[in-house]
Amino acid sequence: MKRSRKVMFVSHCLINANSKAATSSKHKAYYEGIVEKILHNDVGIIQAPCPELLYGVDRPPMNKEFYDTPEYRNYCKEIIDSLIETYKIYSENNYQILGFVGIEGSPTCGVSMTHITVNGEPKKVKGKGVFIEELEKKCIEKGIDLKIKDQDDIDDLLKVIP
Ligand code: SF4
Repeated sequence: MKRSRKVMFVSHCLINANSKAATSSKHKAYYEGIVEKILHNDVGIIQAPCPELLYGVDRPPMNKEFYDTPEYRNYCKEIIDSLIETYKIYSENNYQILGFVGIEGSPTCGVSMTHITVNGEPKKVKGKGVFIEELEKKCIEKGIDLKIKDQDDIDDLLKVIP
């Protein structure tokens, strides 16, 4: 059978929710419905490493300020450099790379929304997580046109499939 030659990058927890902060309990193992949708469109999934695992698998949920440090940004950049190498391998061999799927509201992987601290409380606000900010910067620097969307906007990435 011929391979589809279509791939998509995803934030790690989309297919392994065990990496999420300890009190996050919406998903038992993965983002149900979204992962199936990608696979049913014959799109292969490239799972990015989870940057927040740097702080442990049972870490408490934190807001963007906690992650917005030079050290963490550098750590994200290292991950991104490796993803860009993978991107190049597929793109230079004429694979269709549909985009990158982030996680809405995440201080690291949020695309349209993230979480910040307001008056000592977490607040969901418009904005990007630290990893997505660095990913976008790298794509601009390298002239890479990688579409980046939150998981609930996956249709925007899949609709470009002929
Ligand atoms: S850092 Fe990204 S991949 Fe890791 S749990 Fe948070 S949203 Fe998921």
